[in-house]
Amino acid sequence: MNDLTKPYWDGAARGELTIQRCRACAHWIHFPEPICPACGATDFAFEPVSGQGWVETFTVIHRSFVATFADRAPYVMAWIALPEQEGLRAFGNVTGCPPDAVAIGMAVEVFFEEQDGRPTPNFRKK
Ligand SMILES: [Zn+2]
Repeated sequence: MNDLTKPYWDGAARGELTIQRCRACAHWIHFPEPICPACGATDFAFEPVSGQGWVETFTVIHRSFVATFADRAPYVMAWIALPEQEGLRAFGNVTGCPPDAVAIGMAVEVFFEEQDGRPTPNFRKK
């Protein structure tokens, strides 16, 4: 967590998936950036999104080198396409079904799981 990503994690702590949004041009940005890639402005809000989306691409981790994830393997890391804007994606785990049940295009919704001591946005099959 840093100054740029703190509002995202604060939103997760409230049970909201919030995404950085440019106040000048309304472009959604994720991961958070210091400068809007669409218009160059530096004035942002973090706004809640629907939490609905679909699996754009994913990988199955069979062996994690991150200690806190080692006992979760196999698990799915995915880019989730969000309907709020073309090309807008969130990153997270897809859980609640076996990894081989995850497919590109599968509809998912956000939920929040405690990971590394904080509520973390992850996704599950709708
Ligand atoms: Zn902008």
